[in-house]
Amino acid sequence: MSRELEVEVGPTCISSGYCRNFAPDVFGAKEDRKSYVKANPVSETPQVLEAFESCPVEAITAKDAGTGEEVFP
Ligand code: SF4
Repeated sequence: MSRELEVEVGPTCISSGYCRNFAPDVFGAKEDRKSYVKANPVSETPQVLEAFESCPVEAITAKDAGTGEEVFP
């Protein structure tokens, strides 16, 4: 079973859209085109991990929703 993660997009997002391409169910676009997390917690899937890795400015952070342990970066 995959872990449940508490995911955030920080203010350094430059609206590249990569995370939304990799995980469109998880990341949406606000009116200013910056990304937001549609709903926490988020299941840790390969697509979600790829989305984290794709961010060019490391704006995405994730913690284990159960333990609070830092999962990404
Ligand atoms: S990949 Fe990073 S910079 Fe690009 S939209 Fe997502 S959070 Fe923003």
